[in-house]
Amino acid sequence: MASAEDLRRGRDGTRRMLDDLDSLSLATQTCRDDSLLSLLTGIRRRKAGQTARLMDWLARQEDGLQAPAIDPDASGGSEGETAKRASKAVETDASPSARSADPVRRPPTAEAGVIVIERLQITPELLIFKVPRPLDFSFSAGQSVKVGLGDITRSYSIASAPHEPVLEFFVELVPGGRMSERLRRLSIGDRISLGSAKGDFLLEPSYRNHLMVATVTGINPFISMLRDCVHRNLKGYRFHILHGASYQAEFGYREELDALASDHPELLTYVPSVSRPDEAANAGWTGSVGRVDTIIANYLDRTGLDAGSTMLYICGHSGMIDLVERNYRPLGFRIKTEDYD
Ligand SMILES: Cc1cc2nc3c(=O)[nH]c(=O)nc-3n(C[C@H](O)[C@H](O)[C@H](O)COP(=O)(O)OP(=O)(O)OC[C@H]3O[C@@H](n4cnc5c(N)ncnc54)[C@H](O)[C@@H]3O)c2cc1C
Repeated sequence: MASAEDLRRGRDGTRRMLDDLDSLSLATQTCRDDSLLSLLTGIRRRKAGQTARLMDWLARQEDGLQAPAIDPDASGGSEGETAKRASKAVETDASPSARSADPVRRPPTAEAGVIVIERLQITPELLIFKVPRPLDFSFSAGQSVKVGLGDITRSYSIASAPHEPVLEFFVELVPGGRMSERLRRLSIGDRISLGSAKGDFLLEPSYRNHLMVATVTGINPFISMLRDCVHRNLKGYRFHILHGASYQAEFGYREELDALASDHPELLTYVPSVSRPDEAANAGWTGSVGRVDTIIANYLDRTGLDAGSTMLYICGHSGMIDLVERNYRPLGFRIKTEDYD
């Protein structure tokens, strides 16, 4: 007969697995990529089988019936009748009243965590991953959130905009970094926890011109602000994004930014700049060259932007932020910074 502790662990396990199924349901509803959809559907089917097996075991224990001897932590399970039962449970779960009537089930929350639904390796040291946005999680474009993986938490800026059904992160995998080494092994289906959104690195609406300077992943808050501005159809803003990296492959959002700049030149100018133009990895590069802090002066000269009409935002490595602040604060620019290290 199961002990009270076994039952508690069984209920906790069921709750976690049902949360995962909720997240996977949301992900399959919003996924537009056929191969990712088939992967997610496979994961969901396997999890449904495991969940149903655990639910069978719990139900038998709670009915006082003799259950087959299985470990409540076990994650294996056949996918026959039990999978059908859990799949049915997932479908029934779409009804909010069904959720609240069942004490074991609850909607996905930031605290309970969410599972990774997409993972894109941009370079060996750069990763984009996405999770469904929990129902109780809201944020403003430009904010960051503490992401937890096991017992480690680190802050990451959210690259997606507040209206999107997913939260998107673009992360640099720092060699030897504790979180970075875990993120290197991150897989679709892994669970991360989320704190609440923090920070005042937000668009300053009283300015017309927004000069945004970033190193590599420092682009994230600017992607969020830009997507938000386009979604809300805000008029009268002009974004100037200067983006620095050592290598051309590191501009994680280049395609999106180039396309937006070409479709809406009145809204965005995007200038990616590589600092090591002579290296083989930058062969064929025809764009701007030089560290991002060194191309600002020329950009200001060319465009005629001045301190009175321009808000300056700087995000990424602290060394770059210090250099830019030191040069442009004395010229009267109002500056906001977000330091990643
Ligand atoms: C508000 C905020 C938002 C952030 N947003 C992002 C983001 O969107 N994307 C992102 O990739 N990172 C972001 N960071 C940085 C992130 O929180 C971690 O610091 C980073 O992922 C390293 O964590 P780690 O555990 O792997 O390294 P740790 O084990 O904490 O550190 C290992 C070593 O690496 C050094 N180090 C830490 N960060 C960096 C870095 N970026 N570059 C070089 N060396 C470093 C440390 O000084 C230390 O010596 C943000 C930080 C803050 C404060």
